Formats: sequence, structure tokens, C-alpha cells
Amino acid sequence: MILPGATLGVLGGGQLGRMFAMSARSMGYRVVTWDPDPHCPAKDFSSFHLSAGFEDEDAVRYCLDNMDAVTTEFENVPAKTLERLSEKLIVTPPAKGVGICQDRIREKTFLSGLGFPVPEFFPVTQKKDIDSIPPGFPFPALLKRSRLGYDGKGQMPVGTPDEAASIFSAWGGVPCILEERVLFDKEISVILARNRSGAIRYFPVSENRHRQGVLEISVAPARIREALAKKAMEIAGSVAEKMEYSGILAVELFLLHDGRFLVNELAPRPHNSGHFTLDACLTSQFEQQVRVLCDIPMGDSALSMPAAMGNLMGDLWTKGEPDWDILLENPRLKLHLYGKSSPRPGRKMGHFTILGNHPDDAYEEALVLLQRLQSPL
Ligand code: AMP
Repeated sequence: MILPGATLGVLGGGQLGRMFAMSARSMGYRVVTWDPDPHCPAKDFSSFHLSAGFEDEDAVRYCLDNMDAVTTEFENVPAKTLERLSEKLIVTPPAKGVGICQDRIREKTFLSGLGFPVPEFFPVTQKKDIDSIPPGFPFPALLKRSRLGYDGKGQMPVGTPDEAASIFSAWGGVPCILEERVLFDKEISVILARNRSGAIRYFPVSENRHRQGVLEISVAPARIREALAKKAMEIAGSVAEKMEYSGILAVELFLLHDGRFLVNELAPRPHNSGHFTLDACLTSQFEQQVRVLCDIPMGDSALSMPAAMGNLMGDLWTKGEPDWDILLENPRLKLHLYGKSSPRPGRKMGHFTILGNHPDDAYEEALVLLQRLQSPL
């Protein structure tokens, strides 16, 4: 066990690193944030900030000499750096799991190879692959960059193989995955924590509403039958086991009309759709990340109250600072801002959680609040 007083490193200093640092600091750990951006959101809550690229040799040596354990807040850290650090330090999630999640081709191939249900897909790594798309592949489809895509970025709808070929070329021939466009009933996510002994704790399943590919609202518990929630958790737990994973894992799933699930993607870290856990669960996903990293017993992740989380995007700042009164006058609302100084459209600036007696109430209230923030009277 790594006890309070020890130094924890987090690779990446965005809002997820910031909320990890807040949890770790409140439990008495020192936190070193490693992020090239000298003004990253996690810096405010860090004991020390390492401003360097993720392959910087001096930074690797600093970590090896000064940290007890390391985690990451985003999947695009070089798996090689995690491997180097794990030669001497405890590292969760392990490099293998991060390596799978940071590459869509690897991720989908891994999942389908083990029999997990995924949308139909076809890897495109060179232009001539387009000629080998199996006859009957369902178009319209989506072309997604295999690496570095997030929040709907790096993906385009394509109506025909020719269209896929021209987008592939326009993106400079980077590896891509062609994916069936799924008609789903709901999007949900399962977030779990798995420790190094293989024990798993599940957070309540959340139901997610996206706008233009970006999460807008999450509701917990998801408004689906209990048997379906159980099935989703079983899929997620089994994925974590097969990956020999430790740490926080988010599994995003599409729920189809006939009750089947398809795995959309995996995130080897706390997830935006789990932010409600900060205010609505006995243990948040960030505290659980600290606990798993330090190998201390995991906390109870039960839901205290139904909740809805609304993302506060930079678009809300178009006419200046949003009217915070709209949120703050609500006694069941918790506001979280990430300390980012330059709001840009599409940038996640913060979120709120609204607690309700029923998930429907919380969801409706979150919708209304977002609408009021967008067009205040
Ligand atoms: P991703 O970054 O892959 O999670 O995609 C962002 C969002 O785009 C998802 O949450 C879905 O709303 C949508 N999306 C992604 N893949 C598909 C798909 N194969 N079929 C339908 N919608 C999708």
C-alpha cells in the first residue's frame, strides 16, 4: 500500500488530472502533474508541475527519482513512457491497456477477437484497402482516425467507398477505421475500478446524450431495465479482465432496440460521463483512481441520489461570462469549473451536477438549465 504522504504522478494535466489531484491532495498525497502546458488545469492543485513533452528523458528520470506511483488522465501518453516508468514505479493503468485504448484498430480488433459485440468495422491503413471493403459492408458508415480522435473529432460520415477514399486521402493517409453507423436506442457507459488483485467495483451505469459528437448530459442511474444494466456491467467487467487491467476503465456502449449492446469505445481513465460520481456517489471515480493506484481498499461506489451532469462548453462564453446565478440559485446543484482561462467553442470549461429524486427529474432540470444558460432572458 502506498500511504498518504507519498508522491503520486499524473500524466496529463487537463480537467481529469485536476480532479484526480484534488482527490489525492485531500487525502494527504503529494501530486506531481506532468503536462507540457505550463497553465494546465491540474497545476492549481499540484504540489509540483513538470512542464515537458511526454517523451522527455529528463522528465522520465525526474519521475523515477521522485515518485511512488504514476497514473494517467488521457490515453494518448506514449505507452513506451508508461513502460519506462513501470520499470521502477507502480503504474496504473498498465501500458498494455493504454496501448489498446489509444488505437481504434487495435481496440476493435482486440474486442471482436475475444467475441465482444462491436459495430461492424474494417481497418483502412492504405488507399488500396478501400478496394477490399467486403461487399455488403453497411453504408452510410463512419470513417474514424485510428489514433488521436476524441469527442467526435477525427470522424466523418461517408456514404460510399469513394467518399471514404477521398477523406482518407484528405487526412494524409493516416490509419483509419471504417465503422457501420449504428442506429441505437441509447448510449450508456459503465465505469469500473479494478485493483491489482482483480477485484472490481462498478459505478452506477450512466445514460449519455451527445450533441455533435460531444457529451452534453449524463444521467445516473441510466433509465434502462435492471437486467440490461447488469448485462452492460458484465460486458465491461469481462473486458477489464481480458485486458488484465488495473485502474479506472470506462466502457461506452450502444444499446440497440432489440436489447443487444455494442461496445463503442474504451477509455483507460476516469470519464466525462462519470463526473456525477463526485456529487452523487459515496466514492467518486477520482478518489477510486487514487485508491486503486495506491492499492488501498476501494471505496463504496453506490449512488446516494439520482443525478444528471451537464457539460459547460466554451460556446456558453460567446457573449461573456455565463450568468452563474441560473445555476447557483439551485440548492441541489453543484458547480465545477476547471480554471481554464480561454473559453473556445467546443472546449470543456466545467460541468454541473444536479441531484434529483428521480433520474427523469434530474435530466429534465439539466436540459432546462443548459437551455437557459444558452439563451438567458
Ligand atoms: P466516439 O468518439 O467514437 O465515442 O464518437 C463520439 C460519438 O459519435 C458517440 O458517442 C456517438 O454518439 C457517435 N458515434 C460514434 N460511433 C458511432 C457509430 N458507429 N454509429 C453511430 N454513432 C456513432
